[in-house]
Amino acid sequence: MSERLPIADRAQVRQDTVALLRAERGRVARLVTLTLLAGAAGLVGPYLLGRIIDMVEAGTATLAAVDLLAAGVVVAACAQLILTRYARRATHRFGEHVLRRLREDFVERTLSLPTRVVERSGTGDLTTRVSADVATVGQSLRGVLPDLALHLFQLVVLFGAIFWISPLLGVCALITVPLVVPVVRWYLRRSRPAYLAEGSALSGALENVSATAEGGRTVEGLGVQADRIAVTDDDVGLLYRARRGTLRLRSVLFPVTEGAFLMPSAIALLVGGMVYLGGGIGLGALVTCLLYIEQAVNPMIRSAQWIEEIQRAAASFARLRGVERLPAESTEPGPEPEGDGIELVDVHYAYVPGHDVLRGIDLDIRPGERLAVVGPSGAGKTTIGRLLSGADVPGSGRVLVGGVPVGDLAPGVLRERVVLVDQEHHVFTGSLRENLAIAAPDGDDACLVAALEAVDALWVRDLPEGLDTLVGSGGAALDPARAQQVALARVVLLDPHTVVLDEATSLLDPRTARATERSLAAVLAGRTVLAIAHRLHTAHDADRVAVVEEGRITEIGSHDKLIAADGAYAALWSSWHGTD
Ligand code: ADP
Repeated sequence: MSERLPIADRAQVRQDTVALLRAERGRVARLVTLTLLAGAAGLVGPYLLGRIIDMVEAGTATLAAVDLLAAGVVVAACAQLILTRYARRATHRFGEHVLRRLREDFVERTLSLPTRVVERSGTGDLTTRVSADVATVGQSLRGVLPDLALHLFQLVVLFGAIFWISPLLGVCALITVPLVVPVVRWYLRRSRPAYLAEGSALSGALENVSATAEGGRTVEGLGVQADRIAVTDDDVGLLYRARRGTLRLRSVLFPVTEGAFLMPSAIALLVGGMVYLGGGIGLGALVTCLLYIEQAVNPMIRSAQWIEEIQRAAASFARLRGVERLPAESTEPGPEPEGDGIELVDVHYAYVPGHDVLRGIDLDIRPGERLAVVGPSGAGKTTIGRLLSGADVPGSGRVLVGGVPVGDLAPGVLRERVVLVDQEHHVFTGSLRENLAIAAPDGDDACLVAALEAVDALWVRDLPEGLDTLVGSGGAALDPARAQQVALARVVLLDPHTVVLDEATSLLDPRTARATERSLAAVLAGRTVLAIAHRLHTAHDADRVAVVEEGRITEIGSHDKLIAADGAYAALWSSWHGTD
């Protein structure tokens, strides 16, 4: 079961928004200035049009004067066009910068989380947050901020002008605002939980779909397609209900606000017409006023949309920033381990509460010793390796490295002492140098090449571009044996005193495995080794063998001693030997 990542509260969202805008203040100032200039240019046209009408009505209009004013209208329109173009550009630049910052923060923060937290939260939640939520925030940043700046400015200036020309028409333009207030309040009370529920439903759906896709073969093998389809149907049902929930809110907010904001034009036209007929206002002033009211309708309607977009974006933003609330891996130096000893004391561990997969493991691994861990599949061998490498902490009991519990050790300190080598020898996309530098950020080329040569990866000498050779997807693909050697070279660079081997060569074909085992022998020389043994000859060569069955160590001792004891290990050995 995955546990969803946390969600930022309102106060944190506010604080982070301010910090984000402050960090981008240069770009914000630029886009707001350009937008306001574009808005100001838009006000000139109706004013000049009003002047033309006044002049015509008063009979003072000359052709030259009207031409001049009309040219002014054209110039203002052109200026508005050009300024709007630059304002939009500034907005998009600002939006992309903020998004980059948000994505980078999110990825950086996720990478600094303890492995167990990331594993438990599931890839669906993480992926949805960094894709769908980032997209939602991005859309709003590009749309809302410049609109907000422009329309607020327009509204203030337009209403200032309307009230200045005719207070009566000003009142007409605002008469429906009180109708909107209760609807907006109703909406705001419900929108945050509704949008958060929608985000969470999307995360859940993605989580299950990706789990089904990843485990496609298992699903087919077990014939549980119908179950998985049912789970997906449930998720889609949940998402459908969540989306309907937010749609319901929008379907109340928009019609009410749009209706309420469209009415003032009609009312002002009626009232203005009557006032004009009564001689209370000039025709030019009335037309200017009506055009201004017409111009104000759009920003007022859009204001309802901003409220909606801001709520939606705030929910996505809260989900993005929620990871900040998780405990990061400690950057404190933490306690220093003393000596190279590794000890497990009465260790219990459960992936699912109540189902212990380790039930009281006691193990004392002496420095320099080679200990093989054998036992049936599912006995808990890999779990012991995970606990030793700090990927997780025991439910109860202690896993001590140099006398310090692994959970208390800073990750860097632990990795210098214990390294897990398992079947997943990942090669990252990038240069060979970058792939090695993960383990030794300060290592020079000579030291990186020496590490490769130490694991028999002599092929590095034949690469035309040497350490600059691109590997991983998109670059020259390394075959499995070479990829494994790169992984092992990283271990050489980290130089830990203890290596946990989890069936490191079991996925390779026998020839590659033999070559890799030579590299491995070079890596293991002089280190403590805990080998989770797949092939029993590893156990034969070990100093001691521990047999794990159902989460307990049932036998421990040298190969010869355990054979003589004629217990579980002797049975495993004879069945394996018999079939070899
Ligand atoms: P081994 O390495 O001896 O084959 P593991 O340590 O991999 O055994 O697994 C021990 C038990 O824990 C098994 O029953 C396995 O099904 C269960 N298990 C392993 N990983 C997980 C996980 N991520 N979530 C839940 N159960 C798990």
